[in-house]
Amino acid sequence: MTRYTDSPLVTVTHISPNRNSPREHAIDTVSVHCTAGPCTAESLGALFASPAREASSNYGIGSDGSVGLYVRESDRSWCTSHAANDHRAVTVEVSSDSFEPYRVTDATYARLLDLLEDVCRRNGKRKLLWFGDKETTLAYTPKEDEMVMTVHRWFDRKSCPGAYLYERHGEIAEEVTRRLADEERACPPYRVRRSGTDAQSQIGAFSILENAVRFAKAHPGYAVFDGAGRAVFGEAETGVPYTVRAVCDALNIRDAPTVRGRAVGQITDRNLYTVVEEAAGEGSARGWGRLRSGAGWIALDWTERAEESARTS
Ligand SMILES: [Zn+2]
Repeated sequence: MTRYTDSPLVTVTHISPNRNSPREHAIDTVSVHCTAGPCTAESLGALFASPAREASSNYGIGSDGSVGLYVRESDRSWCTSHAANDHRAVTVEVSSDSFEPYRVTDATYARLLDLLEDVCRRNGKRKLLWFGDKETTLAYTPKEDEMVMTVHRWFDRKSCPGAYLYERHGEIAEEVTRRLADEERACPPYRVRRSGTDAQSQIGAFSILENAVRFAKAHPGYAVFDGAGRAVFGEAETGVPYTVRAVCDALNIRDAPTVRGRAVGQITDRNLYTVVEEAAGEGSARGWGRLRSGAGWIALDWTERAEESARTS
């Protein structure tokens, strides 16, 4: 059973009543549309909020680069005038001019590439394919790791997605596929977490700092950290001081926040100890905690917070 998620690039969530829940086909297609008139993620969401409109899309990208979520990826949007396509597609409405070739701004186009990369990645796709023709595309069965592009004009008498985006479909497929093959992008350096050391609190990771900052701003209490665990945006919320107890029989106290630090003592009881500072360091995925006593640093991997133990006991 597929577990669907939605994009962390979303800046506006406005769930539309115009949808079927859940979708009846696994995601293996994306359909990019143009709005034939400039809009923001917010104003497009307001349009799709009306049941009389009988239309929606999974995502929308505003002319200001804002990204709207209107129909969750688990559900089918009403977008392409073709139920079978919409059941298997992630549909994206892109803000455009109101006349041919329905040009989109550079910021909008850049955000479209980011969103398609993210949609492919979260759905386990390594390739975005554009065949350029309806018969070939509909006759093709995508492999497990492939996403296929379709366009609205194949299913209805419209220009959508407009000449500007239509002519760029080959370029879009190529660029997104190139990004998906880039190992460095698979492990994005900008992480949105509560603290640099607490990997469990991570709610998103981004290649582009600007996207990470936007996401952190939308989630109070979260900050952006680079690969070395340094806060590059926002205040780290470590919650120090707090108390922990050891979950092993002999927990070394070291003179530095790393397993290479000299052992200067040991905790052999299950009493509470107060941590006054956290630091990232080798040998403990959750980081190291400096003891209030001044004795040194302990590996937080081998501790539990006092309130956690109170809950679980
Ligand atoms: Zn369309």
